[in-house]
Amino acid sequence: MRKPLMRIPYTEPFSHPTVIPSTAKTLQGAISALCTFLSAPSPSGLPESTVILSGAGLSVASGLADYRGVNGTYRVNKTYRPIYYHEFLASHEARKRYWARSYLGWTTLHKAQPNTSHYAVRDLGGLGLVSGVITQNVDSFHTRAHPHIKTLELHGYLRSTVCTSCWNEFPRDTFQDELARLNPVWAAFLQEAVASGALNTEDPREKRARGIRMNPDGDVDVPDAPYSTFRYPACPTCLADPPPLADGARSVVTVDRDGAWSSESNAGILKPAVVMFGESINARVKQAAEEAIDGAGKLLVLATSLATYSAWRLAKRAMDRGMPIGVVNLGGVRGEDVFFSHLDPQQPGNQGVRVDMSTEALLPAVVETLRESGLRETDHLPGTAVPIGSGEVAVFKDMLS
Ligand SMILES: [Zn+2]
Repeated sequence: MRKPLMRIPYTEPFSHPTVIPSTAKTLQGAISALCTFLSAPSPSGLPESTVILSGAGLSVASGLADYRGVNGTYRVNKTYRPIYYHEFLASHEARKRYWARSYLGWTTLHKAQPNTSHYAVRDLGGLGLVSGVITQNVDSFHTRAHPHIKTLELHGYLRSTVCTSCWNEFPRDTFQDELARLNPVWAAFLQEAVASGALNTEDPREKRARGIRMNPDGDVDVPDAPYSTFRYPACPTCLADPPPLADGARSVVTVDRDGAWSSESNAGILKPAVVMFGESINARVKQAAEEAIDGAGKLLVLATSLATYSAWRLAKRAMDRGMPIGVVNLGGVRGEDVFFSHLDPQQPGNQGVRVDMSTEALLPAVVETLRESGLRETDHLPGTAVPIGSGEVAVFKDMLS
C-alpha cells in the first residue's frame, strides 16, 4: 500500500501563550476580560455578534480524549496514527480494523454527555451574544446542548455513516446493531468490557491500564485483537441497486449469507460521516464556515490549538476582516501571536483576549457574571446574522432524537 504523504500536523505542544490582558491570568481576571470581550460592540461595519470556533478540548470534561492536551492522544499514545481516507477506501483489512475499534468505542461515546462548556455556549446564545458555532468536534455535543444555535460541524459527525458510492447517510446506532449481529464474538467481548466497567472509566490512564485506549475519533485500541475476523455491512441502497462506476459500468455489490460486505464488491462501502485524514472538507461546508465568520463581528476560539489548517485559516480570515479574537485554550495555539500583535497593551479585553485555562469552570462563571450585570435571555432565537446551512439544525435534531 502507498505510504500516506500527509503528516498529522503538530503532534508536539505549541509554546506557552502570552496572556492578554495580563490581568486574565487569574480566574477572576479571565472572567472579567471575557465578559468585556463578549459585551463590547463590534468594530464599526461588522455585525454585533460573536461566532465560536471550538475543538477537542471542549469535550475532555465529557470523558473524551483530546489530541494535544495534557492527556491528549498524541501526548499519551506516541504511536497513535489515525486511519487515512485512501487507506480506508483501498483496504478491506483496514476497514475491518477501523470498524472493530469503532464498534468497541461507540458505547462509551454514545453514553457521553455534553458538559458545562457546551451548556455555557447555549446560555451565551440565549443572552444574545453568540450567533453561531463552528466546531471541529465530531461528537455532536454542541447540537445536543444547544439545538437552537446554528452549529456547523467542520469535520463531520460520528452519529451517521455515509456511503462512499451513493453518499446516502445512515444512523450510526442501527449500524452498531448490525455490527453486533455480524460479529457475535466481538459483541460478547464488548458486553464483558462494559460489564467490567473498563469502557466506563473517564480516566485515560486507567483505561490504558486495562488494556484499552479510547481516542477522540471514538475508536478503541485493543492490542493484538483479531481485527481480520471483523465483518461490516454493505450500503443497503447500493446493495439493492448497484450504482454505476466512474467509467459507466455497473458496480458489483455483494454480501455473504449474513449480509456482510464481500471483498468481491467494488462499491457500497460505508464510512463514518466524518472528514478522515487525507480527505477534503466538503466544499459546501467550507463555504458555510467562511460565511459564518463573515456574518459575525468577533471570533471566540474555545479549547483548540488550531493545529488543523481548516480551523486555523478561519481564525486568520476573522483577523483579516478586523474581527477582535478571543482565545481560551489550555496551552499554546498555532501562530497565535499574529492574532494579538496589534492590540493596545492597556485594552481590557474588548480588542482581544487570550486565556490559558480550560473552559469548563470559566465559561459558566462568565455566563453568571453577565447575568449579574443585567443581561437577560432574549425571546428571539439568536443567530439570524449567521447563515449556516439552512435546514441543517432541524435535521440534526431529528437524527438525535
Ligand atoms: Zn450506497
